[in-house]
Amino acid sequence: MRTQVGIVGSGPAGLLLSHLLAQQGIESVMVEDRSREYVEARVRAGVLEHGAVKTLTDAGLGERLHREGSRHDGIYLQFPGERHRLDFPDLCGESVWVYGQTELTRDLFVSRLAHGQQIYFEASDVHIVDADSDQPRITFIDSDGHAQVIECDYVAGCDGFHGVSRATIPESIRTVRERHYPFAWLGILAQVAPSTDELIYAWHPDGFALHSMRSDTVSRLYLQVELDDDIANWSDDRIWDNLATRFALDGWSLESGPTLEKGITPMRSYVSAPMRWGRLFLAGDASHIVPPTGAKGLNLAIADVRRLAEAMGHAVLHGSDDLLNRYSDDALQRVWQSTYFSWWMTSMLHTPAANDPDADFLRQMQITQLRYVTGSRAAMETVAENYTGKSMDGIEGLLAR
Ligand SMILES: Cc1cc2nc3c(=O)[nH]c(=O)nc-3n(C[C@H](O)[C@H](O)[C@H](O)COP(=O)(O)OP(=O)(O)OC[C@H]3O[C@@H](n4cnc5c(N)ncnc54)[C@H](O)[C@@H]3O)c2cc1C
Repeated sequence: MRTQVGIVGSGPAGLLLSHLLAQQGIESVMVEDRSREYVEARVRAGVLEHGAVKTLTDAGLGERLHREGSRHDGIYLQFPGERHRLDFPDLCGESVWVYGQTELTRDLFVSRLAHGQQIYFEASDVHIVDADSDQPRITFIDSDGHAQVIECDYVAGCDGFHGVSRATIPESIRTVRERHYPFAWLGILAQVAPSTDELIYAWHPDGFALHSMRSDTVSRLYLQVELDDDIANWSDDRIWDNLATRFALDGWSLESGPTLEKGITPMRSYVSAPMRWGRLFLAGDASHIVPPTGAKGLNLAIADVRRLAEAMGHAVLHGSDDLLNRYSDDALQRVWQSTYFSWWMTSMLHTPAANDPDADFLRQMQITQLRYVTGSRAAMETVAENYTGKSMDGIEGLLAR
């Protein structure tokens, strides 16, 4: 089998890349190690930067997003006794959208499959071969047990953090920079109307809490927990009691409801560079992950793919490798900006471990920082620009050409 671009992974990065390539008349074949149902049902991100919404809208993928998603013009930052709203349009002229990754993935699958996109689901033993040659290949076993080979001009590694693409790049030319955080997030999806119109990021002596939402009837809530905690320790009652304590504010109450899903996720910042080796290009979580505090993971995947689709278009349609040669360096600028903001938000909002000898001092620093961030217009503008993705627009100037 031969195609122009072989794509490993059909998460949001891989699906959107195939869509943007197809719009330029470039053919691709995708290889995914899970079933469509599994990928579609994976509950993850939910906040889209304005630039991500524009990318999806311009690509003809915004119809349901605009109908069923909701525009959010701000967030709340809370610490005991105080809840402050940051008004994004006033502070930086932009907004964000709340639209679940599950919904976006569904839209992408529907569109890709309607356009005849070839996707091999439930593939196993996936390998990228000769990526540093002119004839890269993807080899795998298909769901019927047959060995398959895809010969391509380029390979896009969009297979997430646990995929095979990143590991295809020799360790001798890769640099990994990472930080493991000493806590985790317990997340629940609950069948209950959100108790808030916009996301609440709450600092509390017991730990951070986030009230997010997926729709008018489904809420997504998170608690900071110990890194080695076990979800079995957390009954629904215990979760809701902790959420109510951490979000407590006079005149406001948290509505609880049936829990649809719950799990614990460790937090990590991780960047592997370069994002290219020969004819293999990495995009999304395959190359970098951020703690979810800044709501950047999905947005970064979309930004990488937008850049990569344009660069591949230049190479295939105009015979110019210029943008492909710059892809890794250009993409990494945005990756580091988002990594910085995610780390900054995470450090400000998550309380230190009780056994940290500096815990008392650090908590005081966090409260002081939160007072500044919610009291100074300059500081609020910084948060607004980064949260909406506006601070990265300069970097995206590349795409306006
Ligand atoms: C539990 C969790 C919660 C998150 N919450 C948030 C959040 O609140 N906000 C936020 O912004 N981000 C969040 N993220 C991050 C966000 O979901 C990711 O950044 C986003 O999914 C990246 O998209 P991707 O396509 O690069 O990778 P993925 O979504 O991981 O997609 C990769 C695809 O490749 C497939 N694959 C893997 N290995 C192989 C292989 N060997 N061969 C073929 N296919 C393979 C996978 O099955 C998957 O379908 C969360 C992530 C996790 C794990």
